[in-house]
This record gives sequence, structure tokens and C-alpha cells, in this order.
Amino acid sequence: MKFLRVLCVLCGLLVQARAIDREAFTFTNYDLDVRIEPEQQRLAVRGKIILRNDSVAPQKNLPLQISSSLGWRSIELGGKPAQFVSQPYTSDIDHTGALSEAIVTLPKEIPPKGAVEVEIGYEGIIPLDVTRLTRIGVPAEVARHSDWDQIGQSFTAVRGIGYVAWYPIATESANLSEGNSVAETVARWRAREPQAQMKIKLSDSGEGTPAIPLCNGEAGGVRSYEQMSRAYESVNECAFQPLGETVPLFVIGGYDGLDEPSVNLSYLPNHRPAAQTYALAFRLAVPFVTEWFGTVKAPPKARMEVVELSDPEAAPYESGSMLLAPLNSDSQVAQITAVHQLTHTAFFSPRPWIDEGLAHFAQAVYREQASGRQSALNFMGLHRAALAEAEKALDRERSQNPGADESLISTSIEDLYRSKALYVWWMLRDMVGDVALKKALAAYRPEDDTTLSYMQQLIEAQTKSDLGWFFDDWVYRDRGLPDFKLATVYPWETSGNAHVVTVTVENLGNAAAEVPLILKMEEGQVTKRLLVRGKSKAIIRIEAISTPREIVVNDGSVPESDMSNNLYKIEAPAK
Ligand SMILES: [Zn+2]
Repeated sequence: MKFLRVLCVLCGLLVQARAIDREAFTFTNYDLDVRIEPEQQRLAVRGKIILRNDSVAPQKNLPLQISSSLGWRSIELGGKPAQFVSQPYTSDIDHTGALSEAIVTLPKEIPPKGAVEVEIGYEGIIPLDVTRLTRIGVPAEVARHSDWDQIGQSFTAVRGIGYVAWYPIATESANLSEGNSVAETVARWRAREPQAQMKIKLSDSGEGTPAIPLCNGEAGGVRSYEQMSRAYESVNECAFQPLGETVPLFVIGGYDGLDEPSVNLSYLPNHRPAAQTYALAFRLAVPFVTEWFGTVKAPPKARMEVVELSDPEAAPYESGSMLLAPLNSDSQVAQITAVHQLTHTAFFSPRPWIDEGLAHFAQAVYREQASGRQSALNFMGLHRAALAEAEKALDRERSQNPGADESLISTSIEDLYRSKALYVWWMLRDMVGDVALKKALAAYRPEDDTTLSYMQQLIEAQTKSDLGWFFDDWVYRDRGLPDFKLATVYPWETSGNAHVVTVTVENLGNAAAEVPLILKMEEGQVTKRLLVRGKSKAIIRIEAISTPREIVVNDGSVPESDMSNNLYKIEAPAK
């Protein structure tokens, strides 16, 4: 036994010595039979996958990874057991912070563009696991609301890559304590996989009331359950043809349904009032979304599903046509949820910064319509910290690799294509106005969005103004965030009560922005807008009709790396 272990360690070392390219293969086809036993928290999978060598070198080893709480049972090539070594592989791509990695030794090298079909079997449990978060210092109580994936007796929800490797993947190790490493690893995977075909037969068995497993793919047809005395088995066939941007997930719970014209709501027992709050919010948001983004499509053309999560504090998650979220009776939360999802059914773009960015932007504008600009800015402020963190991490990367760039137009980093894009749309709207922006969006055709400057041209066609400087600094290149500083403020009393305040604003960051300047006076205030280029200064003279008191640069509508140098208190003005 001891000898065997030594041998295995040696095998492991040998395998590692050959420097495996873990991202050489693209998984082009999945055909999986997934059996779930909620009472045991168990998952057992048998199936077939096809992989293609997309690297430039022939490959002798095939890495296959699943969550570390699952174990490999069999791997076969051409009907014969394959030679493989299974080892734990540390990676924060999975909620457990590790993967069970099988390194399959192929009988002969797979040449570039060559494909290989593999029969696989693996099983194990998927319990709640917050290891990857607690080991970087997140308190367990907080962590469980974001890494909520589990197969549980009363409730099951399991997301795919980035959360739980419940289907085989292959990626280089990702580390949560290294900036955007997890997001970037997921992004590289998704960039390889949009054309992948995935067919999953989900079945769930146990005792008591049958629950049909839900998934976020196209319902494949068979959706059934069988009950034999107390035991039941439910089946749902799910297809992703192709996978696109969707992260496959499954959910099992004792749901009731509420089908609205624009959304199907699945809610947990006794939560009908909350579901009704959401149903109402969806109905009320339709006119707003239609006015901004076009017709809200009804199912089955655009099937939008909201599925309740059992943890009332769980962080919501959306992928494909499904949103997983706790349903509470807070109508404000219901409103912004509804407006986001409806924007997706009314407006589609293959570019995440447009698709998701506009859905978040819609939330802010809807909030503004209900409770004013400040309320919208406060809502946007919830995105500021995440965005500043992501930009800081990118800054560190750039300092090591000056060529690194994470432009908004091509990024797969969520904090950028959601939070940064939200601000970009808001700034564009502040510059060009509602009417021009709505017209530009109405002219948008996803199939025509093939050139980088397509969106810029659509907006410029409405405004006849040059937005090149803005798109350069915010969309086509990642120049980080601006940092405005009130460099000098000179108030002059011209005559009587009239004053002129000359303000110099310095932008210490690299991204240009048109930023609001607010002059607060003894009576009232006046807001001006000033364009300040990156690493430059700009001067503006503002007339005051009563004694000027203070100047504030940026009302929060422009994301900044440092907001602590944005206020200047004016002492007695010079005469
Ligand atoms: Zn969305």
C-alpha cells in the first residue's frame, strides 16, 4: 500500500514535469446523464464528452477537472479503460477551492485540431462549501450568501463554472487572492466554449413529494416524473445548443408557479405574496422598458424565468434566461429586478457591456424616475467599490505587463461589463440626453454590431458630436478610472452680491470624463459640466448670484478612484 502511494506520488510528479497545457482542449460536446439524490446530497454522472485540441502542439495528456467533492469512477477511450492519474488540484474556480483532476494519458498524441471522444463516470456529494472564501478571510456567515451552491435535502441549487465544476472542465489554477484571476480564468474558458453543444438528462430521485429539476437551457422535451409508493423519480432533459454565454445550472425545490405575460415565476411554498409583488413589479415596469429599449417580448419568444432561492440573503445570479434570487416582499428590490430582466427580453446584444450594462443602466434610470437623481446615484454607488477593486487589480497587472489591456468592449470580467458599463451608459446619457440615446438604441441591430465603433456611430448619428475621446478612454481601451481634484478655486466679488468663481479641476487619472461641478451658494446652487482629459487640468468660471460657499466636483455619476479630494470650502471671497 505504501509502495503504491509512493508510486502514485511519482506518477504525479512525472505528469507535472511534462508541463501540461490545461487549456489546450476545447470541450465541444457534452452528453451527460446526471442523477441527483437530494437526501444524500449526491450526484452521479455518466456520459460522453468530445474534446478538440485547439493548441498548436500535439497533446499526449488530457486534463479533466471536476469539483474536489466529486471523484472519478471511470474514464474510457474507445470502449477501453484509459490510463489516468487522479490528483487534487488547488483552484478557486470551484467553491471548494480545489478540483479533482484526472490526467489521462492518451494512447497516441492528438494533433492540433484533432478530436477525442471520452466516456466518463464520476460521483460524489455537493454540500455547501465556502472554503475558497473563508481562506481569504471572508467570514463564513457572509460567504454562505454568495457561495450558496449545494445539493440539499430540502433545496438544491448548483451553478456551473466559476462556482461548482459539476461537469468536466479544464483550466489553469485560479486564485481569489490574485486580483481578477478567477474572473479571467472563467473568461478564458467561456471564450473557448461558446459553440459547445451540451445535452443533460437531469434526474432526481428520493422519497416524498416529487420535485422536477429545473435548468437554464432549452427544455429538451421529456419532463416527467414517476411515483412508486413513497419513492419518486423526476426527469428533465436540458439542452444548450450552443452553450453561448450561458453557465449551465440546475435547481430542485418544491416550487409553485406564477406565469405572467412577461415572466414565469417559480416560488417556494408559502411565498405567494412575495411572488405576487414581483408579478406586479414586472407588469408596472413594462411601459418604461418599452419606451427605452423596445418591445418586451413574451414567452416563448423570450422565456424569462425567475426562480426563488431559499436563502433570503442569497446573492442573486442570472445566466441564460434564468434569474435565481430570493423573493422578498420589498417592492423596491422587486422593481429593479423586474426592470433588469425585462430589459433583457426587450434588447439583446452579443456584447456583454451593452447587454448587461444596459440592463443595469435601466435599473438606475428607473430608480431616478421613481425617486430622483440622488436616489439613482446612491444605487449606482453600490457598484463603485467592486469597480474600483477590479480596476486596481488591472492596474497591478499593467504594472507587471504593460501590454495588458482589458477593454470594456471585449471584457468578460463581470465587475467591468456590469458595474463599469452601468456608469459608462449613465455618463453617455448625461452627455447626449435621453432622446438621442433612445433613438440610437432603437437603431441598434445585434447582427450589425460587427465593428468596434458601431455603437459610437449610432449615438454620434443622433448627436452630431464627437464621442471618440470618450469611447477611446472608456470602451475601446481600459485607462482605469479618473481621479478629480480641485486644484485651485478663486472666488471674486465683482459687484454687489455677484461673484465669479474660477475653478481649476485636475484629473490625476488617465481616463477623460465630462464631470459635473456643483457650486453651492448661500442661497441655492448651480451645476456646470466640465470635460477634463486624463492627466490634465481644465478651468471653468462660474457665476454666483449669492455668496459662494463650497465647490464639489463629481456628484457620483462619474466613477473615480478617489473621492476624498472632491470638495473645496470657500472662505471669504476676495474683493
Ligand atoms: Zn442581466
